[in-house]
Amino acid sequence: SLCWLNGRLLPTEQALIPVNDHGLLYGDGVFEGIRFYRRRAFRLQRHLQRLQLSARAIALEIPLSSDELTAVIERLIDAFADDDGYIRLMVTRGAGALGLNPKSCSQPNVIAIADQLTMIDIGQQAGARLIVSSVRRLPADGLDPRIKSLNYLNHILAKIEANHAGADEALLLNAQGRVAEGSADNVFIVRNGRLLTPPCSEGALEGITRELVLQLARDNGIETSEQPLGVYDLYAADECFLTGTGAELIPVASIDCRAVPCCPGPVFQGLQQAFRRTIDQECGGE
Ligand code: PLP
Repeated sequence: SLCWLNGRLLPTEQALIPVNDHGLLYGDGVFEGIRFYRRRAFRLQRHLQRLQLSARAIALEIPLSSDELTAVIERLIDAFADDDGYIRLMVTRGAGALGLNPKSCSQPNVIAIADQLTMIDIGQQAGARLIVSSVRRLPADGLDPRIKSLNYLNHILAKIEANHAGADEALLLNAQGRVAEGSADNVFIVRNGRLLTPPCSEGALEGITRELVLQLARDNGIETSEQPLGVYDLYAADECFLTGTGAELIPVASIDCRAVPCCPGPVFQGLQQAFRRTIDQECGGE
């Protein structure tokens, strides 16, 4: 795995930042996960836009312009061993005094790691086994879920719960008990041929893959609706799947041990093909 750190490319194990970086001390920072295919970053400008908005929301000024970040990502991809892979782009508040006040942090650290990533490994199974986690997405002091910050403890606790249950992934509900999202992915269901997903106001990240899948569905004449969903809606779904940069599109085989009737279902399979075609179009096909 290869890392770009403040202007230098080096093996990730050799890329070091100070232990008093507020990213480590307080999770003070923002990030993006970006995939590249055939050495071209997929939807890079959307990711850089979201990073910029996340940073603005936590009053963090990214020391590089969007063009400079684009050049960083391109340089990292060029130097990486494989044609396809995953990039973790991070901006931390930087090193500073102990104490959470960011005033003492003079220079944010910009870090980009390229590696392979299998977010959810379903192995030989038809799809992922999900649980509905007891961890809620919006605690009382909740950060806006649209901010992709370095604070992922809710999602990590949900993932631990999935591990304990022998499941592949966990879904988080919001404070009202309605469906928000997966630990690092958005969730969709199909019911009577309609594609449904919760609006982001229910506590989901504005997923870039989510946005694309909604667009592809509409382009293919599938009726879509962003509407609040309860756990019952998950259990009653004909199909269910997850979307994310890391996850790409993953069909769901069961939710809380209730089998999903169609896995992978016809709507999922059509969208999966359309998703692959979009990658071919934007990142160069064979
Ligand atoms: N939800 C969370 C909490 C995430 O961390 C991610 C990240 O990838 C997603 C959803 C999916 O978003 P995207 O499709 O932009 O990768």
